[in-house]
Amino acid sequence: MKVKIRKGDIVEVIAGRREDRGRRGEVIKVLPDKGRVVVQGINMRRKHQRQVQTQGRTINPGIIEFEGPMHISNVMLVCPKCDHPTRVAVQRDEDVSHRVCKHCQTLID
Ligand SMILES: [Zn+2]
Repeated sequence: MKVKIRKGDIVEVIAGRREDRGRRGEVIKVLPDKGRVVVQGINMRRKHQRQVQTQGRTINPGIIEFEGPMHISNVMLVCPKCDHPTRVAVQRDEDVSHRVCKHCQTLID
């Protein structure tokens, strides 16, 4: 499956954890090999951190919150033009491919 979501895109969560559904966030990382994305403020995970020493720095113990990767099928790109979560069509223009909003047919980039 080809990944049509890129870093910096705004996506809406359409499936997955109940507390995340319907929320929007910016894609901060794409993991194409795993078919996953990391979305800012979504799918928050907590990790208990022990005190550790690395390279002369001390990392204090506590609870660290971080965004967990989520499957790409759980999110939909939000079209910057019509503001709808949408499927994306890819239009090839010679060797450049553009993403097109299937909702309003606008070229996204
Ligand atoms: Zn649109």
